[in-house]
Order: sequence, then structure tokens, then C-alpha cells
Amino acid sequence: MFNFNKVNLGRLKNEKVLVTGGTGMVGKALEKIMPKATYVGSKYDLTKYDQVVELFEKVKPVCVIHLAARVSGMKGNMDAVAEHYTENVLMNTHVLEVSRIYGVKKLLSVLSTCIYPEHTSYPMVEENIHNGEPHSTNLGYGFSKRMLDVQARAYRRQYGCDFINIVPNNLFGEHDNFHLEKSHVIPSVIRKIYEAKQAGDGALKLWGTGDPLREFTYSGDLAKIIVDTFNTYEEEYPINVGCPGEYTIRDLAEMIKDILRYDGFLLWDTRLPNGQIRKPSDNSKFLEIGLKTEDDFEYTDFRKALEKTCLWFVKNYPNVRGVE
Ligand code: NDP
Repeated sequence: MFNFNKVNLGRLKNEKVLVTGGTGMVGKALEKIMPKATYVGSKYDLTKYDQVVELFEKVKPVCVIHLAARVSGMKGNMDAVAEHYTENVLMNTHVLEVSRIYGVKKLLSVLSTCIYPEHTSYPMVEENIHNGEPHSTNLGYGFSKRMLDVQARAYRRQYGCDFINIVPNNLFGEHDNFHLEKSHVIPSVIRKIYEAKQAGDGALKLWGTGDPLREFTYSGDLAKIIVDTFNTYEEEYPINVGCPGEYTIRDLAEMIKDILRYDGFLLWDTRLPNGQIRKPSDNSKFLEIGLKTEDDFEYTDFRKALEKTCLWFVKNYPNVRGVE
């Protein structure tokens, strides 16, 4: 596990840094490492061009870390597929264009393994990002994030902008969104199990068969990776940065049940969709070229990171995002 105090901020130490999406889960993890950067949430609505200009005029950033996005789990993505596409395309388009206009020296955006095609070879390699449609449960979000790759490369080619993209897999950690309709699998299962335990329910029904496999990266690890790739990665193509190692949703739920000491049974509602059955990503390029600023980086052990997240949730419940 890395030491937050030892992180070498490189050029992010002395430059004016703007973090969009700074009030979200990853933004909060980044703030622990880089407390001096400017963190903004939707107070400035990035889908509105004028508000993006107003933000840049106020902050005058030299470096931008673009995290802002309409982010949801499978249900939210399916229920509001068009909104996810349009809002993300607008935010990305505005942030990159205004960064160009204001002469931002470097911009890093965070994509997602949701951008990969439904049908592809495993583990997923960067070269295949555009070789097929994303899974249908992810159509709007997946394509909107893919377009960030297109826009960043186009800006690099025409204007010489140093815009880079990294591709993490599923993220989790403190300050996640625990909303039942909008959250990802980990926060959703943590909340459901915790509330079932509090209510004394003997059984809890979870979504799907429990068979899909997923990889997970702790938000604190991603924060470190963002700093590192910002300082060292210079190529125009996106790079996978997620922690490898697949878990079935069932194994994950059993682990959370164990951590939260819930005695009830977990049942699986097989009528509900599973989403993509697996999506392991290949981070070998990242391991080869990344992490130049820190020698002792290791991804946090999954169980340990899950325990930290559960502990944080229990300690802060009900004052956590998506519950209040
Ligand atoms: P969160 O949902 O925790 O945070 C989203 C952030 O975006 C918040 O700060 C939110 O502001 C802001 N935001 C949303 N809409 C707007 C808007 N219209 N204008 C301005 N800001 C807005 O996201 P995460 O921290 O989980 O994700 C960070 C990045 O990582 C995102 O780009 C996401 O796509 C990507 N990613 C996330 C994964 C995950 O599993 N969570 C997996 C892979 C990639 P406010 O708080 O005010 O609402």
C-alpha cells in the first residue's frame, strides 16, 4: 500500500491545478494527496459552455485533471442512456475546448473500461477500444467516454495540446455514491447488506446471477496513478491502469457480507440482467512505462480496501452520498 505522504507530485506541486469532478469519489481521494489544487463539483455546470468559461476565467488553470462525469451503475445507465451520453459529451467537449483556448499545458481525463467493445479478446488491450460497440447496458456512457479519446487525439494532432487519457476498471472507496438506483456494484451491495442487517432481515435479494466477473481498483490507488501518469505519460493513446484480478459478483457480495458480519442469506434475482459477463483489462503497458515518480507503488489489497470502504460507510451512515 502506498504512503500518501510520500507521493511525488512532480509538476502538479507548483502549477495551478484544476480538478473537475473534484467533489466525487476520485476527487476526494486526490484531495488527500494534492490539497492545494482547486476542486470543483457541479456548482459550475460543465454541460453549459458559459459556466466552463467562467470557471476557467476564475481559476486560470495551467494543469487540468478532468474527472467530472455523469456516472451511474448498470440500472442508472440503462434508465437514462441518452442523458449519460449527452451530458458527458457536452462536459468533455467544453472542458477540452476551453482548456485549449486558455492554453492549459496538460490535461488528463479519466475514461473507463466500459468503453471497450462487448465482443473483444481478453484481457482487453488498448488497441481494441474502437473495434465494436460497448455492451448495450452501457451504450450512452461507453460511447461518450470513447469520444474523449477521439477529441483528445484530434486536439493533439491539430493544436498540439498535451491531453492524455487513462482507463481504470471499476472503482470503489470512501465517498462513493451509495444511491440504490445510481450506484455501482460495490457501494450498492455494501448499502443493501448493511441495511438488511440493521433491519434484521434473514435474506437479501441481489441483482442478476452473481456470476459476472469484475476487476476493481481502490480510489486511493487511482489518485496516486493519476498523479504519476500526469507527470510521466505523454502518448496520445489511452492507457489501461486498473488493478488486475477478477472476482465474481457473488464472491464480492460474500466478502462484504463477511466484513459487515451479516448472517442472512444472499439470494440472486436471475430475472435481472447481468451486464457484460467479464471485462478484464491488460495493464502491462502501464506497468512497463508508468510509476516513474514512485518506486514502491502497489495496488492496495482488495479485501483491505473493501474493509476500509465498509468501515467508512458504517462510520458515516446515514450521512453518505446517495443515502441522505
Ligand atoms: P462521482 O460520481 O463520484 O463524481 C462525479 C463528479 O462529477 C462529481 O464531482 C460531480 O459533481 C461532477 N459532475 C457531475 N455532473 C456534472 C456537471 N454537469 N457539471 C460539473 N460537474 C459535474 O465519480 P467518480 O469519482 O466515481 O468518477 C471519477 C471519474 O472516473 C469519472 O470520469 C468516471 O467516469 C470515471 N470512472 C469511474 C468509475 C467508477 O467505478 N466510479 C470507473 C471507471 C471510470 P457534484 O458532486 O456536484 O454532483
